[in-house]
Amino acid sequence: NAPLAEVDPEIAQVLDRELKRQQTFLEMIASENFVPVSVLQSQGSVLTNKYAEGYPGRRYYGGCEEVDVAEELAIARAKELFGAEFANVQPHSGATANAAVLHAIARPGDTLLGLSLDQGGHLTHGMKINFSGRLYDIVAYGVNPETSTIDMDEVRRLAIEHKPKVIIAGWSAYPRTLDFAAFREIADEVGALLWVDMAHFAGLVAAGLHPNPVPHAHVVSSTVHKTIGGPRSGFILTNDAEIAKKINSAVFPGQQGGPLMHVIAAKATAFKIAGTPEFKERQERVLRGAAIIADRLLQPDVAAAGIAVRSGGTDVHLVLVDLRDAEIDGKQAEDLLHDIHITVNRNAVPNDPRPPMVTSGLRIGTPALATRGFGDAEFTEVADVIALALQPNADVEALRARVDALAGAFPLYPDLQQ
Ligand code: PLP
Repeated sequence: NAPLAEVDPEIAQVLDRELKRQQTFLEMIASENFVPVSVLQSQGSVLTNKYAEGYPGRRYYGGCEEVDVAEELAIARAKELFGAEFANVQPHSGATANAAVLHAIARPGDTLLGLSLDQGGHLTHGMKINFSGRLYDIVAYGVNPETSTIDMDEVRRLAIEHKPKVIIAGWSAYPRTLDFAAFREIADEVGALLWVDMAHFAGLVAAGLHPNPVPHAHVVSSTVHKTIGGPRSGFILTNDAEIAKKINSAVFPGQQGGPLMHVIAAKATAFKIAGTPEFKERQERVLRGAAIIADRLLQPDVAAAGIAVRSGGTDVHLVLVDLRDAEIDGKQAEDLLHDIHITVNRNAVPNDPRPPMVTSGLRIGTPALATRGFGDAEFTEVADVIALALQPNADVEALRARVDALAGAFPLYPDLQQ
């Protein structure tokens, strides 16, 4: 039981350097966050040793009395947080949660209607070489090229034309809230099931700052590690007892073996934190931060450089930047921001003229910085840095100094021993 630094110094160094990277860069990848030390403790605990195939009280292994408590807590807290009657907290990730949802409510060959990947959807919503695109017959809706928003008339038209078994609402890169009631109306009209993937905005829902899909959808899936800021993993909610049964058997034994009990315990903690007033206050900063960044990037100096904000703003935790008319492309912008110590990801815009490895867009998110403690003043400063960085002839050294000052003022994991 020698420490990691002794057993495997190469990996110990990876951990040390990664901690340093997270501390020195400003993390603005919209799907990332920083888990609290309490969550790290569960994930790095002896619960990783335990096999617990099955569900609480119905396990295929002995010795599950303690992990049963952890899973019951995670289930109860997920249900309470989102107002759902049933929760499955075993999916290892968002993608496996989504695979289980489709396994439960559709059969291979059924038609699915979802937002296409290049317009903001996720791989698991029907991308060609993902399991979803290979097993199911995919019809995709997109966004209106003028407004960058989903056109519900178009969703309805496609639903009536193709009679999908499942309509998917949810996204990985979309800056507005969705009208879940309208999606449900369309689903009912054509006899489809509505599945909402709230992976990105679940933290906002938990805080009561975003419409809750649970009352509208037949099934809702999510990750825990984006806006919720918990461990890397997934979960599934429903109010329908029949669907709940199918989901449980689709997750285990349909898809997974032993659940990751250390992660499930960490999920329980993350859900507990997500029910606190401090969490709500943090999500308010997430939203204000994104609005501040959108406002700054809409200013004339930025627009003059051919840079636009898709949909003209944001309702959520991210801003989508359109670089189609700018000198700089998505890859160059990502690299340049990296150079000044801000981490973002490039992102295709609808009908992107540049290839997927380059793209003409950026996705900028605020959850991780809000967790780090950023408020209006800091988001105003970082928004200005980004706005200046994206314009021609940016003073990289000066901008990096401003970023380093912000990072220094908000230490991350100051006492962490790993
Ligand atoms: N669903 C959506 C909407 C996502 O954005 C993501 C991740 O980016 C996932 C599912 C998949 O989550 P994971 O990476 O945990 O498999």
